[in-house]
Amino acid sequence: MILFELKCGHGHLFEAWFNSGEGYETQAAAGAISCPLCGDTDVTKAIMAPRIRRSAGAADEKLKKLLVQGHEKLAAVRRYVEANCDYVGNKFAEEARRIHYGEVPARDIYGEASSEDAAAMSEEGIGFLRLPVPSRTDS
Ligand SMILES: [Zn+2]
Repeated sequence: MILFELKCGHGHLFEAWFNSGEGYETQAAAGAISCPLCGDTDVTKAIMAPRIRRSAGAADEKLKKLLVQGHEKLAAVRRYVEANCDYVGNKFAEEARRIHYGEVPARDIYGEASSEDAAAMSEEGIGFLRLPVPSRTDS
């Protein structure tokens, strides 16, 4: 079983259990997953983003500043992340580990991770931010 943090088309965040990542994909494609708050079936995995480098650079400082400015700035955060970080999709946990353990050069990445991956990364001391990002279609 795998726990995913999900987001509906209205930006509600919730968690749901699936047999596997494929189980999630299948159910999501069939519209079988609905938001517990509003019933919306337009559900996507919440974005887990981005990894903070071990040696904090200017990028990290700028990002932290944007984050503390509050939710109305989330669109700006998203634009910043997309412009400055590499999208690694559902390989976020895997890629963050490779960077953390020095297997690949450090860089800023963003992508999706399950709640289990997030917990495991925290235990391993891998820095990342959990970032609820509004969808582009939010008005
Ligand atoms: Zn909802």
